[in-house]
Amino acid sequence: MALATDTIESEVQRLGRKLYQQAAQNKPSLFESRDLLGRMIDWSLDDESLRVALFRFVDVLPSLESSSEIGRHLEEYFTRVDHALSGLAILANVLHAGTVVAPLVKRNVIKLARRFIAEESGNHLPSVLSSLRKEPAAFTIDLVGEATVSEAEAVVMQQRYLDIMRRLAGVSAKWPECSQIDQSSSGKIPRVNVSVKLSSLCARFDALDPNTEAIVCRRLRELFRRAAQLGAAVTVDMEQNDFRELTLDIFRRVLEEEEFRVQPYAAIALQAYLRDSEHDVTALIRWARAHQRRIGVRLIKGAYWDNEIAWAKQKDWPIPVFLEKAATDASYERLSRLLLEAHDVIDPAFGSHNLRSLAHAIVAAKEIGVPINGYEIQMLFGMAEPVRQAIIRNGQRVRVYLPVGELLPGISYLIRRLMENTSNTSFLRQTYAEKKTVDALIKPPAVAQGQQVEEKHDRQRFYNEAPINFAKLANRQRFAATIEEVRGKGQKRRQPARNDRWLESVNPADPNEIIARVPAATLADTAKAIDNAARFFPQWRATPAADRTEIIFKAAEIMRERRWQLAAREVLEVGKGWREADADVCEAIDYLNYYAHQMLRLADPRETQQLPSETNSYFYEPRGLAAIIAPWNFPLAILTGMTAAALVTGNCALMKPAEQAPVMGEQLLEILRTAGLPQGACQLLQGGGEIGAALVRSPKIHVIAFTGSREVGLEILRESYTHRLGQTHVKRVVCEMGGKNAVIIDNDADLDEAVVHVIDSAFSYQGQKCSAASRVILLPELHDRFVQRLVDAVGSLKIGPPEDPRNALGPVIDADAHKRICEYIQIAKQEANCVLEMAAPEEGFFIGPAIFRDVDPQSRLAQEEIFGPVLAVLKANDFDHALAIANNSQFALTGGIFSRSPAHIEATRREFRVGNLYINRGITGAVIERQPFGGLKLSGIGSKAGGPDYLLQFVEARTVSENTSRHGFVPVERAKN
Ligand code: NAD
Repeated sequence: MALATDTIESEVQRLGRKLYQQAAQNKPSLFESRDLLGRMIDWSLDDESLRVALFRFVDVLPSLESSSEIGRHLEEYFTRVDHALSGLAILANVLHAGTVVAPLVKRNVIKLARRFIAEESGNHLPSVLSSLRKEPAAFTIDLVGEATVSEAEAVVMQQRYLDIMRRLAGVSAKWPECSQIDQSSSGKIPRVNVSVKLSSLCARFDALDPNTEAIVCRRLRELFRRAAQLGAAVTVDMEQNDFRELTLDIFRRVLEEEEFRVQPYAAIALQAYLRDSEHDVTALIRWARAHQRRIGVRLIKGAYWDNEIAWAKQKDWPIPVFLEKAATDASYERLSRLLLEAHDVIDPAFGSHNLRSLAHAIVAAKEIGVPINGYEIQMLFGMAEPVRQAIIRNGQRVRVYLPVGELLPGISYLIRRLMENTSNTSFLRQTYAEKKTVDALIKPPAVAQGQQVEEKHDRQRFYNEAPINFAKLANRQRFAATIEEVRGKGQKRRQPARNDRWLESVNPADPNEIIARVPAATLADTAKAIDNAARFFPQWRATPAADRTEIIFKAAEIMRERRWQLAAREVLEVGKGWREADADVCEAIDYLNYYAHQMLRLADPRETQQLPSETNSYFYEPRGLAAIIAPWNFPLAILTGMTAAALVTGNCALMKPAEQAPVMGEQLLEILRTAGLPQGACQLLQGGGEIGAALVRSPKIHVIAFTGSREVGLEILRESYTHRLGQTHVKRVVCEMGGKNAVIIDNDADLDEAVVHVIDSAFSYQGQKCSAASRVILLPELHDRFVQRLVDAVGSLKIGPPEDPRNALGPVIDADAHKRICEYIQIAKQEANCVLEMAAPEEGFFIGPAIFRDVDPQSRLAQEEIFGPVLAVLKANDFDHALAIANNSQFALTGGIFSRSPAHIEATRREFRVGNLYINRGITGAVIERQPFGGLKLSGIGSKAGGPDYLLQFVEARTVSENTSRHGFVPVERAKN
């Protein structure tokens, strides 16, 4: 019989109090300050800067080989923190000992790690398991190690799981029966239980790539098969929200197969902090009932809370987690009930250290009629031991989540746990460090009234356009359908507008496919367009800035409405992958909005100084006619950015897209016209370099906005500054050119991150980005390991038409580019050692990625912009040498470093002189306003695109001074502004 809500709550309180009385008697080992690190954790609870320094130090420690390196990092991290706490004085003393304490520190961290991680080899694991069994507590094993970035690593990971299941099946068979952990209400429980992160089973866990599902299903199937043979259990862990849909799909899909209808015992983890979790729980229950498949569900609160918020904010996606801790706690209680009520098909497991949450689940189980062995409680190894003991004493079945692996590579796991348990909202911290009262600890979660409110966007403030979330199936289906839709339209032949000359847009993945034919401009058309613009200019200049910005804002709205089609067209026209194409469209929308906002800032005249009897006003006017000459590699964004800047400031634009991407030019013009832009303000001239050159040479052009190669850029600068007959002004040139961008990998870099980001920076869009990484500079200690992981990981990528999202790599833009890059690869083979040259499809302009090592910093491979999937690996003697190599280039566009040394990061900030420097992240994908973009040296001479100074290049400033007094009469009223 169901109990009334009040009765249940008082039961929860009673049990919570009882458990608390037992648990509060002893401290968990984490909060014991027996050794140096225990003490450091104690101090860090009160001092955020020390906490950050401490965790960052522990994070970098595994990568530090020598004592002197450990000493250097200790000093770098801890001399910077606030020394307010008395404990820090001890620390500071210790630090003076420098390298002497290094081995001691490493020993202590290893000791600390051993409290959270069991070693895979040797006797540590069996001894941990047998002591757990004595408690008695069951276990589930999570294999920790480096992130999986290649197929080879995925195979190793799968093998580790297969091996450990076999090994433990043998060991566990000899254990005497213990009914508290070996029996459930429906029979015998597997003693061997492993927890698997699906992302560890493939090189690239990406919902967009249909191969991910196929590969992971294959590997999971083998794990399930082995588990079924051995009578073991497999729980699928839940990772970040981006992986959630795919993880659930894979879990269900494999279990639906006939072979797995009954065996093995399988479970999945769900996170209560997600706002969608209730939906997932009910869907999973429905699925289990429909398939009559009994499964376990481990309910946890979720371990990626800060990250989920940060990732969502970066992309401007809805925040997937509850922002309030109490809301997560309340969700946990709701979901606990749902799972218990589905006991016919679900075996619930409650993973938490929070006594309130656990007491609630236990009371709810009793009330719903689930026997005590019909569900279990799970806790992390090394944490909350007193809580665990209290729960075991209550007769519950407890399972310990036990990370197993090498101690030092497992540190990232340790960091996550430390962060979690020392955060302000941690139940353990509140219980054992802050000593909150029992009443406060076990009170029901009080959720503040009102929904989590998403920030509303409006015109008042600039915001970045959110990319499409391809982790969602509906979005993937829609994009695939849109490609088909635009393909149908694109293939239609058009009628000539004025002459018989055509420019063809071809699909670089299949040059036989003509995406579109557009009328090509002649030199006569160009001259006529310039005259039209010159005639219209006075009118456009006189148009109020508010009206011009209105049109540009409107264009942004229209572009947003058409974003799917535009991105799909880019996939076909220039061979971009889905995400890359979508990002280009987002950037184009951003340019429109951002420059319109910037224009509002510049529009009104300013009074320079306030004086009696005189007004001094300073204001901007457009320069006149702007030639916009764009490249093909960001075919919509760069064209839109340069054009919008010219138009919104009141110039008339003559827009010349790259000849490889005429469709994007047409689309943009159409959008601007629909937004209400007058004909004369912007004209489109489709064609090649000769049209660009004619614009540049025209004496009627005032400003040239060019983005493209160094060769063309320098020629444009030469031509533009040559005075021509009839020319009454000096032209202004905005010139963004190429790059030869380097990424330094410091000795202490996080290799998991460095490999993934270097691959993305070097090979996404086949390296055809001005910002792409084309040089990687490594220090000797890390060199071979990094190159090996890099080569394995790149070798795991697929090449083919980008409309198929299985392909991480597509074609290069055209036959010329193909020929040029192939020639460079031959040159590189003479200059350096080729460690990877992947095969590529014969049809289409495909080139497999090539990686060269032992590259001479002076060689052509290290100095010239290749603009394709070719990466040079250079070896530096030490960090200063690495910086010198990085700066040894005629270009200075982007650059990056992966390092965990505060001093090296600081030196890089100061000394690595590039336009856009990126630290511990990829070096491409600058976001408008967030990362204004543009290079130094021969990479460019403009003010940064998407930055606050950009529009100034399209205007001229004027100052007007007026004496307002008349024979001693000084008016009181001042002019506006
Ligand atoms: P490109 O220089 O060949 O062509 C760029 C544009 O210039 C095209 O529209 C082309 O038709 C036109 N053009 C060619 N010859 C001309 C001439 N003599 N006079 C006037 N116009 C002429 O470059 P691309 O192949 O389209 O683009 C790739 C290059 O662009 C790479 O070098 C890349 O690094 C650079 N790029 C730089 C940035 C940046 O922001 N710095 C951004 C994107 C691309």
